[in-house]
Amino acid sequence: MALLSVKNLEVVFPLRSGLVTAIKDVSFDLEPSERIGIVGESGAGKSISAFAILNLISKPGYLSAGSIVFKGQDLARLGEEEMRQIRGNEISMIFQDPMMTLNPVLTIGTQMEETILAHKNLSRRAARKISVAKLKAVQIPSAETRLAQYPHELSGGMRQRVVIAIALLSDPRIIIADEPTTALDVTIQAEILELLLTLCNDFEVGLILITHDLGVVAQVTQRILVMYAGRIIEQGPTHQVIARPMHPYTQGLLGALPEKTRPGQRLNQIPGVMPSLQEIPDGCPFHNRCDYAQAVCKVDLPALGGKGARAVACHFPLNQ
Ligand code: SF4
Repeated sequence: MALLSVKNLEVVFPLRSGLVTAIKDVSFDLEPSERIGIVGESGAGKSISAFAILNLISKPGYLSAGSIVFKGQDLARLGEEEMRQIRGNEISMIFQDPMMTLNPVLTIGTQMEETILAHKNLSRRAARKISVAKLKAVQIPSAETRLAQYPHELSGGMRQRVVIAIALLSDPRIIIADEPTTALDVTIQAEILELLLTLCNDFEVGLILITHDLGVVAQVTQRILVMYAGRIIEQGPTHQVIARPMHPYTQGLLGALPEKTRPGQRLNQIPGVMPSLQEIPDGCPFHNRCDYAQAVCKVDLPALGGKGARAVACHFPLNQ
C-alpha cells in the first residue's frame, strides 16, 4: 500500500482578475522509502504541489479539490493543530534557504532541543543526546561543539546539513525537500545530494525532491514527475524518462542540461517561456514552444495516460 496517495489535487488563488488555478489534477503515490522527484521550470506548480501536501499554501491560495491520504487519513480534511503534528513528526520539510528553517539568534543546540521537546516528552539531556546523534548522522564533525554555535558561524553547506539533521529529529516517514541544493556551490551540492540519498536509505525515509534540475533528480530519485503549467505532463522511472523522454518538454529540459553542451557552445534552451497561470492557452499548454505541435494541439488538452509505469500528456509522444 502506498505511504502517501495524492489524488486530483487542485489549488486556486482568488485574484482581482478572477480565480486562477495554480495546479490541477495532480495525482501520484509515494511508496514506503521511495524517492521521487518533481521537476519543472519555475512556476510549473511543483512547489505548490509539495506545499499543498502539508497545508502550507500561502494565502489567499487554497486547496480546492483532491485528497492526500497518509496512513489512512486524508490530510486535506485535517485541522491546523492535527496538521502541525503531522508536519513536525511524520513529514518533514527542507527548504532551499537554510535560514528559512534556522533562527539566527538561537544556537543550533537550542533549536534542535526545542524542536524535540515540542513533540516528545523527554528531558533536555535526552534531547541533547538525540541532537548530537542526528548531527553525526549528517556527518557534521565535532557535533557536540556545533550545538553551541549560531547559524551564521557555519558555512552554507553545514547549515543545510543542520537543517537536514533537524528534519530527521522526529524520525519522519517522508521528507519533502524543495530545491535543497540550489543555493549551494556545485561541489557542496553533490555532497548534500549524496547525504540525502544515504540518509533516506539508512533511515528508510520516503523523499519528495522538488527541483528545476533534471541532473539532480537523476542522481537521487527512482521516479520522476515532470510538471508544466500546473499539471503533471510526464512521469515514470527516472532512468527510463532520462533515457527515453516521451514529452517534448522533458526532451527540451534534458537537452538544456549543461553536460549536453560542448565547451564554448551556448546552452540549448527551450524557446519561449512558460505561460503565466492567467494566460494558459487552450489545448496543450506547451504548444507555443513545441517543435512537434500540430493543429489538434492548439484545441485539445492531452490527457495524462500511458502503459505500465510510464505516462505522458501529449498527442504525439516521442520514443514510444
Ligand atoms: Fe507538443 Fe502537441 Fe505534444 Fe503538446 S500535445 S507537447 S504541442 S506534440
